Amino acid sequence: MFTEYINHYTSLRENYKKLLNMINSYDEIIIMRHLRPDPDAIGSQLALKEILKCVFPNKKVTALGESEASLEFLGKMDTATSVEQPLLIVVDTAGVGRIDGDISVGDKVVKIDHHPNHEPYGDINIVETGVSSTSELIFLLASAWGFDNDYINDVSARLLFSGIVGDTGRFLFNNTSTLTLKVASELRKFDFDAAQDMTEMNKQSLDQFKFKGYLINNFEMTDKGVLHVWVPRSVLSDYELTSNEASMHVNIYREIDEAKIWFMAVEEADNIRVRVRSKETVINDVAESFGGGGHPLASGVSIASYEELQLLIEALDSKL
Ligand code: AMP
Repeated sequence: MFTEYINHYTSLRENYKKLLNMINSYDEIIIMRHLRPDPDAIGSQLALKEILKCVFPNKKVTALGESEASLEFLGKMDTATSVEQPLLIVVDTAGVGRIDGDISVGDKVVKIDHHPNHEPYGDINIVETGVSSTSELIFLLASAWGFDNDYINDVSARLLFSGIVGDTGRFLFNNTSTLTLKVASELRKFDFDAAQDMTEMNKQSLDQFKFKGYLINNFEMTDKGVLHVWVPRSVLSDYELTSNEASMHVNIYREIDEAKIWFMAVEEADNIRVRVRSKETVINDVAESFGGGGHPLASGVSIASYEELQLLIEALDSKL
C-alpha cells in the first residue's frame, strides 16, 4: 500500500535495506532525539524502540535523553548504562549540536529526520523533508522493512500517531499530505485512546493559562506583519513557568489575520530562545542566517542578546 511512497523518497528507498542489515549486526542499539523534545521527537524515538523490540526481542534497545514531564504520558526514557560499541540511531534532529546526548558513544550513527539535511552526520542518513514528521517517516521505514503488519502494535501506533498529530498541529498545518492522512488512518486501526492523548498533549496549568494574558497584551507588530513578543525571565518567574512551558504557546498568534510571521523570544539563563512561525513566507533561511534552523514555516534560533532580536525582526520584515 505504501510502496509508491517508499519509492518516491530517495534516501529511504536507497537506505532502508542497508539500515536493516546494520541493525541486524548489532546487539545493542541506542536511540536518541533532540533537546527539548516535542511529541514527534518522543513519539518517533519510543515507537522505533518498540518496533525494534518486537522484531528483535533479544537485542538491547534503549531510548535516551532528558525526560520531559509534560510528555511522560507517552512513555519514559531509559537510564543510560555503559554499553560497548552500540549502534546509535538519532531521530528528528537536524544537527549534532541539538542532539540530547553524546553521539560519540555510537560505533556507527544513523540519522532519521525530516528537517533540511545541512548536516548529514550519520553513517546512514534517511532524511526526507517531504514528510510531515519523523513519526510518519518511521512508519514508512517499518513499511519498507515489511514490518508494518506484524510488528507495529498498539503502543507504537499510539506513539507514531501522537508524533504526527504534534507536528501537523492536529492535521491543520500545510505539511499534512495525502500520505500523512493515509498513515494516520492505518495507525488509527490500532487500539489506543487518541482523544485522551490529545487532551493530555494540550492540557495546561492555571499559570500557563493566565500567561496567555501576558502574551495577548504585550506583543508588538511591524506594519508589514512581523509580530513579536519578548518574555524576560522576570515574567517567567511571575507566572512560575519554565521556558518550555511558556514557549508552548507560540501558536496563539496564528489566528491574527494581520500577523504574517511571528515569534516568541523567551529569555533563558544564558541565551534567548526564539520560536519563529510563518503562514506562507519561508523563514528557515533567516533562522539559519542567525545560527538556527528548522522547517520553512516553523523555525527556531538561539540568540545571545536583546539587540540581536531587533536584527531578527528587521531580517524577517524584509522577507515580506
Ligand atoms: P521549535 O520552535 O522549537 O518547535 O522549533 C521549530 C523547528 O526549528 C524545529 O524543527 C527545530 O528543530 C528547529 N530549531 C529550533 N531551534 C533551533 C536552533 N536553535 N537551531 C537549529 N534549529 C532549531
